[in-house]
Amino acid sequence: LFITIEGGEGSGKTTMIGRLSAYFQNHSIPYLLTREPGGIEIAEKIRSVILDPSHTSMDARTEALLYAAARRQHLVEKVEPALAEGLTVICDRFIDSSLVYQGLGRGIGIEEVWNLNQFAIGSRMPDLTLLLDIDPEIGLSRIAANGEREFNRLDMESLAFHRKVREGYRLVAERDPDRIQMIDASKSPVMVEREMISVLERTVLK
Ligand code: C5P
Ligand code: MG
Repeated sequence: LFITIEGGEGSGKTTMIGRLSAYFQNHSIPYLLTREPGGIEIAEKIRSVILDPSHTSMDARTEALLYAAARRQHLVEKVEPALAEGLTVICDRFIDSSLVYQGLGRGIGIEEVWNLNQFAIGSRMPDLTLLLDIDPEIGLSRIAANGEREFNRLDMESLAFHRKVREGYRLVAERDPDRIQMIDASKSPVMVEREMISVLERTVLK
């Protein structure tokens, strides 16, 4: 089982992934938790190149290529072997982030970024994608209140950029409504967790 978590800045992905792993632990379901971009050494290095706040001249297509490269390596080196062993893989971000951030946010186009990612991932798609939907104004204010978070190049983007990201997520969710399940992430952590678990239990864990 391959499950991905998506959402804009401050949507609570990191917190909810913690809750998801607790759920899998409590139900004795063997799982692997990982993240994109990163999860393995090569991809973590690519991540730091992409997100370095001093790389202000990075071209949008360069960015898309780097994300796709990190995704490819992470998939081949970590995700596919874990799936082959029968583990449930929970991944913080995957292809939908690229469709939305690079395709729409950066304006490359969803189809273009989709085609690039086909080269990177072949036919491997998540069985379920939990999309944490939140008004970017609320999301960004949550981030501002969280001093522990690392500053990255995306933190310099405007509210308008993050609005495009939110609309983009809604668009990709409409295109693939069976796979992508949208969750209202403005609610309290307990409520969001409950909704996530109920989606899980009525879809992939049924
Ligand atoms: O999910 P996480 O906060 O670790 O992502 C790190 C940063 O990379 C975020 O600011 C996110 O917006 C950005 N990102 C991006 N395009 C992607 C994936 C992540 O701009 N395809
Ligand atoms: Mg996070």
